[in-house]
Amino acid sequence: MNKSDKKWLTAHFGSQVLFDEPMSRHTTFGIGGPADAMITVKTDREITGLITWANDGGHALMILGAGSNLLVRDGGIRGLVLKLANGFESIEQCPQASPSGGADVKAGAGVLVWQLGRYALEHGLAGLNFALGIPGTVGGALRMNAGAWGACMADITSSMSLLNRNGVIVTIGKEQLLFSYRGLELEEGSIILRGEFQLRRADRKALRRDALQIQKKRKSLQPFSLPSAGSIFRNPPGEVSAGELIDKAGLKGLCKGGAEVSTKHANFIVNKGHAKASDVLALMGQIRETVFDQFGVRLEPEVIIVG
Ligand SMILES: Cc1cc2nc3c(=O)[nH]c(=O)nc-3n(C[C@H](O)[C@H](O)[C@H](O)COP(=O)(O)OP(=O)(O)OC[C@H]3O[C@@H](n4cnc5c(N)ncnc54)[C@H](O)[C@@H]3O)c2cc1C
Repeated sequence: MNKSDKKWLTAHFGSQVLFDEPMSRHTTFGIGGPADAMITVKTDREITGLITWANDGGHALMILGAGSNLLVRDGGIRGLVLKLANGFESIEQCPQASPSGGADVKAGAGVLVWQLGRYALEHGLAGLNFALGIPGTVGGALRMNAGAWGACMADITSSMSLLNRNGVIVTIGKEQLLFSYRGLELEEGSIILRGEFQLRRADRKALRRDALQIQKKRKSLQPFSLPSAGSIFRNPPGEVSAGELIDKAGLKGLCKGGAEVSTKHANFIVNKGHAKASDVLALMGQIRETVFDQFGVRLEPEVIIVG
C-alpha cells in the first residue's frame, strides 16, 4: 500500500482507518501480525465506495467479524481488513406475520450472534438458543454456518443480503443458499450485510430453562479462561469427534511455545500467553500427524488461517 492509497483512505474514513493494525487485538486467540489497513465501515454507502476503490486499485480485501474463528499468521495481512459496525448492528422484527406463525427477525452482519440469541430469548422466540455462547458476529456465523448441540445457522436462515464483488447488493433466499457443515458457498468477494431468520414462538420459561442448560453444558466442556478460536479442527465424518481422537492420542496438554492443546477440551488450542501463530501451526501439524499415524484419520482445520 503506497502513500496515495493511505491518503485516500484517511481522507474518506478518518479515524475509522487504522494502519499497520495488529490483528492480535481483533482475534479471540489474541494472535496475529499487522494488517496494512483495517477499516471500520458503518453504512452500505461506505462499504460500496470502499469496494469500488479496492477493486480499481487491485487491493486485496478481507472481512473480519469478531475474529473468533481466525488464525492470522505472524507476518500479518497485506491489503485491507474490513469490519462492519453501527449500521450493521441492528436487530428488528419484521412487522408482517410470518407464514410459519412465528416471527421473522432481521439482523445486521455486525451483531454478535449471542446478542441475537438473547434478543430471541427475551421475545419468546425459539431457534437460536444454540448460538448463546458463540462469540462470533451474525456475518461470521452465517459464513461459517456456526452451530452447536445439533442446530446451526442454516436451520433458521430464510434469506441473506450480500454485497457482491461488483458493489451490487443482492438478496438471496434460503433455497439458493448453499450451506454445508461449518461452511457456506459464496461467490468470491461477497460480503454478508444482513441475515433474516425465521423463528418459532415458544414458551418463555421453557426457552430460558433450555438456554441455562446449554450455557451450563458449554461452561463445563470448553475452556473459557484462556484465549482460543474455538474448535481448531472440523469433526471428521463418522461417529468419533476430532476432540475424542486428539484426546485418545494423548495430546491434551501438549505445548509449542505459548500454545497448548487444552487440558479441558482436546479440540481447543489455547494461548497461554504470547503464543505466536507459528506455535499454533506447529501444534496443529503435530496433532494432524499423530492422529493420522494412530487412527488413519486426516483432520482438517475448522479455524480459517489467513495472512
Ligand atoms: C470460545 C469459543 C467457542 C466457540 N464455539 C463455537 C460453537 O459452538 N460453534 C461454532 O460453530 N463455532 C464456535 N466458535 C467459532 C466461532 O465463534 C464461529 O465460527 C463464528 O461464527 C465466527 O464468527 P466471527 O464473526 O468471529 O468470524 P471471523 O472469525 O471474524 O471470520 C470467520 C470467517 O468468516 C468471514 N466473514 C466474517 N464476517 C463476514 C461477512 N460479513 N461477510 C462475509 N464473510 C465474513 C471471514 O472473512 C472469515 O473467513 C467458537 C469460538 C470460540 C473462541
